[in-house]
This record gives sequence, structure tokens and C-alpha cells, in this order.
Amino acid sequence: VQQSSDLDARAVELDRSHVFHSWSAQGALHPMVLAGGSGTRVWDHSGRSYLDFSSQLVNVNIGHQHPKVVAAITEQATTLATVAPATAHLTRGEAARRIVERAPGGLDKVFFTNGGADANENAIRMARVHTGRDKVVSTYRSYHGNTGAAIVSTGDWRRVPNEYSRGHVHVFGPYLYRSEFWATTPEEEGERALQHLRRVIECEGPTSIAAILLETIPGTAGVLVPPPGYLAGVRELADTHGIMLILDEVMAGFGRAGEWFALDAHDVVPDLITFAKGVNSGYVPVGGVLISGEVAATFDERVFPGGLTYSGHPLAAASIVASIDAMSEEGIIDNARRIGADVIGPGLADLAERHPVIGEVRGTGVFWALELVADRTTRAPLPAALIGKARTELLARGLIPFTSDNRIHVVPPCVVTDDEVAEALAAYDDVLTLLDEEL
Ligand code: PLP
Repeated sequence: VQQSSDLDARAVELDRSHVFHSWSAQGALHPMVLAGGSGTRVWDHSGRSYLDFSSQLVNVNIGHQHPKVVAAITEQATTLATVAPATAHLTRGEAARRIVERAPGGLDKVFFTNGGADANENAIRMARVHTGRDKVVSTYRSYHGNTGAAIVSTGDWRRVPNEYSRGHVHVFGPYLYRSEFWATTPEEEGERALQHLRRVIECEGPTSIAAILLETIPGTAGVLVPPPGYLAGVRELADTHGIMLILDEVMAGFGRAGEWFALDAHDVVPDLITFAKGVNSGYVPVGGVLISGEVAATFDERVFPGGLTYSGHPLAAASIVASIDAMSEEGIIDNARRIGADVIGPGLADLAERHPVIGEVRGTGVFWALELVADRTTRAPLPAALIGKARTELLARGLIPFTSDNRIHVVPPCVVTDDEVAEALAAYDDVLTLLDEEL
């Protein structure tokens, strides 16, 4: 035991000496140590275990250490650990086929990337070359990744210090709880958000716009499930003006929303779909772009001006094949849908009835947000210090939360069990009581 807690201390010491972290001032970091995991649980070297209701960065959809995925990676590593992107590789082809089979009809090709940001980067590149246009319209409440075009498409604060490229325009998407459009019903919110988008397209000049890039369900921005008809309306606007529609399914796809793709519940077929995270639960870094026949045809004769050394890496491909097969065979997407509708949704609604600090509960599948407020009438967001307190108190109760702005996102792996949800709800209940007392 002594030696184990030494390992935790050593991990922190090495991290603070030599590891530079994402999106952080480096001086004030206190990273938690993780050493192992299984399913919804993870633990440190000292044996302290946690329920992972963050799925790390909302990506471990199949749960930690799924044996079939680990075995597939190991087997591929012992056979051929790497190949150049220009080769034909059987496992890469099998991975692409499985993804295409689960996507809407007409999106028949996959360009593999290293993660979500470069998936969006390359989808934007495809839309720009295909249309011969430059601008990309996306929403303020979004995150699309940290590379050149992806970070400038992002709407949240992370865009501002990176805003050096041109050709990006932002709009407000639907968000009834904090409506920009004075709407009072989901239908009104959807219609007015569409009218706002229509006017921005007209004012920017429709023939200058290559793509509309939207997260099907904006995730980090607050799990903002779009109102019925909104995405179909965006599709119609894009068609009217010859604009490509790119749906970012990096966070929402592969089970998170209780579907293979979140767009399956929204009656919309985009020209390009970007994915990453849940496609293999991050066991090996990978992402990609699903490409429509029309866009793919542009590059039949013309060279696609993009590429990556690790496009379709064999270890990533093997992990995708095993992950998709296990998700299919073990009913993992069905579990996400069922547990969202029957257990998590009702459980969170019950918390909202008893805790005035909850302003709104929204979500689907294993993709939920608790919007926390200082005052239910004014909807003033709960101050950051209290979100920090919620984080600390949840960790102390053995639950890893995902927090963003004034929200707790309830985002466990798709394999989470009813008992684990009950355990998590008890921890949230306790901590929300502490927050209520601060109001
Ligand atoms: N798009 C969405 C919707 C995301 O949530 C993220 C990451 O959180 C990204 C893109 C970027 O993915 P990555 O961090 O793999 O580059």
C-alpha cells in the first residue's frame, strides 16, 4: 500500500515537472492520478476507485478496458503495428465499412484522421474545395477542436485567442432556456433560430458560404438537443444556396445520444459527418470524415489537398472494428437509449423537483446536463466557485463529474448499469443539497 501511494505521488511529481496541459494556466494544476479501470470504474495506484460519470472527455462510450477492444489492438500490434496511409489495409477497410453501414445512405467513404479537430479541419477543406467558396457558418455555442479552421469555427471562448484566419461567421442556435429570440416554446425557438440563420446567410452573401458546420447536439456548450424541425430546416436552407452541411458527431455519435449517430433522431442527412471519440472510445487516437457521393466525386479526378501520416492507422482501425462489433453484439447502444429514457432522465427530473439549484435538466441517451442556477426566476448561472465546490464534493464521494460553465454534465459510458446510475444519483443528490444551502 505504501509503495502504491508512492506511485501516485510520483505520477503527480513527474506530471508537474514535465507535462504541459491543455487549456490551462500551468501553475495552479492539481491533476488526479488514474492508473486502471474497468467498465464505468477507474482507480488510482492506491486503490481509490471512482465512478466515471465524465467518460473522461465524454469519449469512453464502451467503458474502460473492454476486453474485446484491448485484444484487437494487441493482436494488430503483434501482426503489423503501422502502415503508410497510401497502402490498402484490410482492417482499415473493415473499419470504414462498419462506419459507412451505420451512417445515413449516400455517405459511402471515410477519410480517417487523428481525432476530432482534424476531422472538422478536413471536412471544411472538402467543403471549400467542392464549392469553391470560403466562409463557414457555425454557432457561438459550440466546440469543434483546437486546430486552425476548427478552432475559428468554435463559438466558445477558446476561439477568441486563436482568431487569425478569415472566412468564419457565427450565429446563435436554438437554446430555449436562455433564448436569444424571446421564444417561449421549442417550436418558436426552432423557427426563430432558423429565421436568424436565414438572415445571416443572406447578409453574408449565400454564394460566399462553403459550409454550415453544426454539432448535431452541441455538447460541451450544454447538451442542447435541437427542437424538432430545426436541423431539417437548416438542411433546406443549405440546399437552397448550394451550401454543404457538415454535422459534427464527434461527441454526440456512436452511442452517446442513444443512437449510432445523433442525427438518426432528427430526420436530416448532411453532406459530411465528422466523428472521433466514441467510434473507438479513445483507446487509440482516431477520428474521421464520412463523405457524400457528391463531395467524394469532386476528388475523383482532382487531387484532395490534405493528408496525415497516421490516416487509418492499423491500431486505430482494429480498435474501431472491435468496438463497433462489441457495441452491436452486446446491445450497448440500446442500453444507452434505454437507461437514458427509463433511469437517468427520470432520476434527474426527480432531483430537479427537490433541488432549487437545478434550473433545467435536458438530454438523451447517456448525454445529459444539469443547468445550475443561483435563482430559478432570473436563471442567473450558479457562480463558478460553487461549481468548483460541487466538483470537489462529488470526487470526495467517489464520482468523477464533468463540469462546464454553470453545469454538471451527466455523461457516463454507454455500458453504465442501473445500479451505477442509482449510486451516482445518490452522490448528486447529496451534493445538490449542499449547493441548495448556499442559495
Ligand atoms: N467536436 C466536438 C463536438 C468535440 O466535443 C470535440 C472535443 O471535445 C472536438 C470536435 C475535437 O476533438 P479532438 O479533441 O479529438 O480533436
